[in-house]
Amino acid sequence: MRTGSIIPAHKAIGSDYDQAMALRMELCEARARSEPLYVCPLCGTPVYLVSRKETRRFFFRHELEDGRCPAKTRGELNEQEINARKYNGAKESYAHIRMKQVIEESLRCDPNFSDVKVETVWRGQERATWRKPDVQALYKGLPVAFEIQLSTTFLRVIAERRDFYQREGGLLCWIFKSYDEDRARLTQDDIFFSNNHNLFLASENTLTESQNAGRLMLDCRWAEPYVENGHVETRWSGRIAPFDEFQLDQKRQRIFLFDYESAVGCARDESEEAAHQRMQEAIRQRFAEFWINRGGVNASNAGWKQVRDEWLELQFALSLEGMDIPDHPGEHSLAGALNAFYSAREGRPVGWKFNKLIEVAHCVHGRHKGYLRRFRQLLLTYNRQDQIRREDREGKWQAKVKQYAPLLKSNDSTYESENRYAELFEFLFPELVVTSESDD
Ligand SMILES: [Zn+2]
Repeated sequence: MRTGSIIPAHKAIGSDYDQAMALRMELCEARARSEPLYVCPLCGTPVYLVSRKETRRFFFRHELEDGRCPAKTRGELNEQEINARKYNGAKESYAHIRMKQVIEESLRCDPNFSDVKVETVWRGQERATWRKPDVQALYKGLPVAFEIQLSTTFLRVIAERRDFYQREGGLLCWIFKSYDEDRARLTQDDIFFSNNHNLFLASENTLTESQNAGRLMLDCRWAEPYVENGHVETRWSGRIAPFDEFQLDQKRQRIFLFDYESAVGCARDESEEAAHQRMQEAIRQRFAEFWINRGGVNASNAGWKQVRDEWLELQFALSLEGMDIPDHPGEHSLAGALNAFYSAREGRPVGWKFNKLIEVAHCVHGRHKGYLRRFRQLLLTYNRQDQIRREDREGKWQAKVKQYAPLLKSNDSTYESENRYAELFEFLFPELVVTSESDD
């Protein structure tokens, strides 16, 4: 009766003989004081502990056995009816009564609420339908019912209540005393899930806060989605907030502070975007490996077939990303560009039978002028300046730089960038996009 928890008999009694005997004594004393400690959850009658000497087993018995308790005639009630009775039984507990007072007193602090009533019948528009919420009040004209939920045993009983208040143009607000973070997502799921993954706690603390703020303050907890390793996960979050900050959704019977629904939508978009980026990165790496290792495949038929198959797979993967590449990897203009760019990135000749990077540079300048600007950008990005200077023993490259640098800077048509595969280059070398164009 102190906590309002529903405890199975075997748990209340335990397996220790001395403790069970002590409990028996406690129950007797409580009975003498007329302050029952344990009551039958079905009928609310106080119980005491009986022991069978021969078996050393204990069991609970009603103080008053008049045959009315449904526990005696279990066959006539279904599970839902039994739960409904248990639910009403739990409302007698001290914890429940105190929670009602906490809500009532908090509501009376808040000028947005009027007509605060406790344990009063709410009659439905349809005849013979009614509910008796723990506390009810008008919030700026909207009837709000507060139901206190100490135990999570009664989900089925309470789920149907939403329909009643929805039909009645009212709003049902569930109040918990506590919750188990790990189990909440499972056991309180009906309320929690249908309420946009928000739940509310009230306590002596929220009552004090309400009195200080002059508003109904509740401790709101919610599940907050975030993306980790491309998956949407949730973590608990919460704060004490005034009722007038909550979003009220009468139609869907939701009251929430944190909009989980839209947040999870954003998180899903984010995780999809992350998954897409991972896939793009995989294509990018596969393409680079293909291109850099391509020179290693010998010219035998088997080797060529392997190269072609891999190329066609890359062609397909890239086409899904909206990029077309030729059917053959040797297409002159593209092959020259890719050789140049991967050489700059790797710091050694790729695709061409040169020995040094400086030879690649001369080749680009001589035969692939349309790629010179991107090539230079990649040399800078990968800090190849020293290497180029070292390899440029006779200063031939330096002389060319002096000649073309001003032309690049002034966008002279001689070095106009070849843009047929611009999108592909930016995909394969994202650094081309982010690096600022510096021609120093
Ligand atoms: Zn009973």
